[in-house]
Amino acid sequence: MRAQPQASHFVDGRYVEDTAGEVFENVFSATCEVIAKLHAATDGIIEEAVASGRRAQKEWAALAPAERGRVLRRAADIIRSRNRELSELETLDTGKPIQETIVADASSGADCLEFFGGLAATLNGETIPLGRDFAYTRRDPLGLCVGIGAWNYPTQIACWKAAPALAGGNALIFKPSEMTPLCALKIAEIFIEAGAPKGLFNVVQGLGAVGAKLVSHPAVDKVSLTGSVPTGSKVYAAAAAGIKHVTMELGGKSPIIVFDDADIENAISGAMLGNFYSTGQICSNGTRVFVHRSIKDRFLTRLAERTASIVLGDPRNEETQMGPLVSHAQREKVEAYIEKGKAEGARLVAGGERVAPEGLDDGAFIAPTIFADVTDDMTIAREEIFGPVMCVLDFEDEDEVVERANGTEFGLSAAVYTADLTRGHRVIGRIDAGTCWINAYNLTPVEMPFGGMKMSGVGRENGRAALEHYTQIKSVYVGLGPQDAPY
Ligand code: NAD
Repeated sequence: MRAQPQASHFVDGRYVEDTAGEVFENVFSATCEVIAKLHAATDGIIEEAVASGRRAQKEWAALAPAERGRVLRRAADIIRSRNRELSELETLDTGKPIQETIVADASSGADCLEFFGGLAATLNGETIPLGRDFAYTRRDPLGLCVGIGAWNYPTQIACWKAAPALAGGNALIFKPSEMTPLCALKIAEIFIEAGAPKGLFNVVQGLGAVGAKLVSHPAVDKVSLTGSVPTGSKVYAAAAAGIKHVTMELGGKSPIIVFDDADIENAISGAMLGNFYSTGQICSNGTRVFVHRSIKDRFLTRLAERTASIVLGDPRNEETQMGPLVSHAQREKVEAYIEKGKAEGARLVAGGERVAPEGLDDGAFIAPTIFADVTDDMTIAREEIFGPVMCVLDFEDEDEVVERANGTEFGLSAAVYTADLTRGHRVIGRIDAGTCWINAYNLTPVEMPFGGMKMSGVGRENGRAALEHYTQIKSVYVGLGPQDAPY
């Protein structure tokens, strides 16, 4: 099985290659087959991408915003019309089941392009009366932006970064994760088909070193990273050296709080979606599930029953509900956390070991895993695992659970499950997290800003708020008469 792209990079409207770049392999993690080999971008490719991005940005920013919006909406339509093909590629790239990619990846990217396409023409400033004179503000583009992606949602991440950037009149160079290089190239093709200027959305491939070169390039004005906290610290520091704008979408260890009056089946659905969807590889996952002590046993019994029915298998099959992790290295990392959980005294309720669906002995599969009796000080309750490992903790009262939920360096997401909506709003108001739910989990419509507090990030993607992170205000004072001067 091969998914070799025409070339590694897409720059200035066409596929380009420089075989001098380091070779890296793209592996389908369900079978361990190498499906593509790519070359990391050389300095030459990076310079070409930067030069073409700057050229395209000038052309693009000169268009009426409504015209820019039309291009984004055309791109959204093309993505929707090619959803099947894009989803199949995303499944090969990530190992995520087609059941998920068909509804959550390219289609979310299309929603985002459509949403920001619609907002493009609403980028207004304000007029400020100043007596005889007045001032007005404009929302100007930042210029050339760089987007750097994680491997869990490659198509969605590319679109979530491109849509507000392009709507704001910027160009974007996107560097996908080296683990999932394929889908962004298709999005680049689609932008050209939709009528975007060549170079407006360039894709360059490579490992962290390529990302680092892009971030510190003097012609780059903004960096948006989706990745881990350690990478975020490095990228933030490098951007600071050039006083560049940043958006950081980083990791999490988010709480789900289930009160004794909650609809238990709905809360279990949320906990399962927030730990097992995408094989647990979602930044906003609710990996610390705090369950009220009075319902803990009932919750755990039903949770274990429902978890046992999850269908693991070949992600290309429609009936598969959970695929492998993105790589064998990721599985080893997750396994090391499971061992730590056992060693530190957590009680294993489900999973905890490798599994091999029929015919997929070499796949990076792991069973959906649940630990109960987890305490706040355990490693599995403090560190992001990024795999299908749920920690269930119990609590007695509201003040206690709020304090414990906030007892983390992260602040990406949180949820409260309760029939008492007054309590729901009160508790969510006290949690330090940027993206929250009441009686739901991990729903991320593009209309709603998404992002984290504390170490989980800076800035927001999606929602009208994202446009603020891709434009800058220019104030213009207009004198309507002579200005007083003392000389
Ligand atoms: P990672 O930090 O290892 O890599 C992310 C990207 O950064 C990759 O493209 C990588 O090549 C690049 N990179 C690495 N070092 C760099 C450097 N010094 N300079 C510039 N670029 C560099 O993350 P990952 O393992 O790919 O993804 C998993 C992480 O991403 C998890 O922590 C997860 O929570 C986070 N994530 C966050 C969100 C969000 O929206 N908040 C979404 C998805 C994933």
